[in-house]
Amino acid sequence: MDRKNISLAGMKVTPQRVAILEALQSLGHAPTDEIIRKVQELSPYISPATIYNTLEKFVQEKMISRIPTDGNKTFFDITEHPHIHLVSEDHTKMADLEDDKLQQVVEEYLAKIPIPGFKMNRVQVVLIGRFE
Ligand SMILES: [Zn+2]
Repeated sequence: MDRKNISLAGMKVTPQRVAILEALQSLGHAPTDEIIRKVQELSPYISPATIYNTLEKFVQEKMISRIPTDGNKTFFDITEHPHIHLVSEDHTKMADLEDDKLQQVVEEYLAKIPIPGFKMNRVQVVLIGRFE
């Protein structure tokens, strides 16, 4: 991979951060345990705690997003633009659905409806189902 293309959003570039970003780029969407496994394949010296903290930092810097599912796994996603997620019922598989129209319809609908006591920052659509 061409390391010049790696952007760390103004964060200090460290070998750990680059390794974690590379793992995310090759995985696309992945739960934390899978990211840890992938990073440690090539960089066994990077601890799970460092990986976990770095993922949190990447989320704060809006370089990646955390995708909520109702399972007990947290998925991280490197695709930045708003898009829809398809998640298997057992929460082991996740894919993107690029449907700008659907995303737009949902965002426009929600923008018109104030939710008392809640200020919406962004919309994340997750569809739960079965991959065939
Ligand atoms: Zn995605």
